[in-house]
Amino acid sequence: LLGADGEVAPTIFAEMSALAGRTGAINLGQGFPDDEGPAEVLEAARRAIADGQNQYPPGRGTPDLRAAIAEHQERFYGLSWDPGSEILVTAGATEALTASLLALLEPGDEVVVFEPFYDSYAAAIALAGARLVPVRLRWPGFQPDPEELAAAVTDRTRAILVNDPHNPTGTMFTAEVRSLVVELAERHDALIITDEVYEHLAFARAHSPIAAIPGARDRTISISSGGKTFRTTGWKIGWLTAPAELVTAILTVKQYLTYVNGSPFQPAIAAGLRLPDAFFDELALDMRAKSEALGRGLDAAGFAVSRPAGTYFTVADAASLGYDDAAEFCRALPGLAGVVGVPLSAFVTAEHHDEYRSLVRFAACKRIGMLEEAAGRLAQLA
Ligand code: PMP
Ligand code: GLN
Repeated sequence: LLGADGEVAPTIFAEMSALAGRTGAINLGQGFPDDEGPAEVLEAARRAIADGQNQYPPGRGTPDLRAAIAEHQERFYGLSWDPGSEILVTAGATEALTASLLALLEPGDEVVVFEPFYDSYAAAIALAGARLVPVRLRWPGFQPDPEELAAAVTDRTRAILVNDPHNPTGTMFTAEVRSLVVELAERHDALIITDEVYEHLAFARAHSPIAAIPGARDRTISISSGGKTFRTTGWKIGWLTAPAELVTAILTVKQYLTYVNGSPFQPAIAAGLRLPDAFFDELALDMRAKSEALGRGLDAAGFAVSRPAGTYFTVADAASLGYDDAAEFCRALPGLAGVVGVPLSAFVTAEHHDEYRSLVRFAACKRIGMLEEAAGRLAQLA
């Protein structure tokens, strides 16, 4: 992970945000919103600080936030979890993922991961001494091939890691794929770990968690975060729901990673999770409008575009503009058009770079005016 100069190499997201900063390009690289989250949520954090909620919270998270997570899971998915034993608050989804993998994997265990994948997965699996087994999602639909998935899961598989809705492709897995994941996990006695941080940014259809599929609940760790839903990516309040014995195992790791996190932000995320349905409905509609605005801009610029079903992201093929190396294209793009994107090769194993070589991820989590400005700039490429 060290760069040629011996310094820690920045993540692709940090590198691309720095490039946008240096060049003044519009940053459609790193996924973070450019407008504020709901006033009730921001105000609840200010109030918590003023009220003196500034010391260590309980190790599992504040009882009120755990109650709010349980209510939210019941309201949206009909799932019931015991706030006392089956819910853990974490430092973002990132810590929930890393603590789960460190707690539940033995060296040499295999973890089946859909590729391309969010960059922290490979690092956390490597920290646990385990082996990542990729199952490819292919342009343009990005659904896995059921036979490839079935072949990847064996008795060596300790966990299947599912990110749905999916970063970076914007795909949402079909009901058949989700059921197959559960069937394979049962057959091979594997755990399922789900990363659902984009649960409320699903706009092609409503998100449906794997834990709700019969047979899944007892072997599934479901992970989410307040960052995307409440536009508070810097607060790093995440959580997981799982059977009590799994939560206990993960808590033993979490207590030595961060111990606890984000005292005054916990009541604020609890307030967010209790917002009325209209907030969540509007959030998905807003994301759809932004995604469509970005898609129109990419079309007009001459890219082939994979239409996302959810998330902040849209994948486009730069080969249709005559660029077959997206990493080079992304480094040149600020100069060519004043926009920053991220090459998909940043999300894949070295063996599979070539398959994703010309694909670029653009983020649509920006104000419509900004996306239109980006579209105008990208039109110069056509
Ligand atoms: N998983 C995915 C798929 C993500 O896109 C992100 C956010 N970039 C995370 C996890 C991390 O979430 P958090 O900021 O809550 O740690
Ligand atoms: N999740 C965001 C993305 O995929 C960025 C998170 C990060 O910078 N680590 O762009």
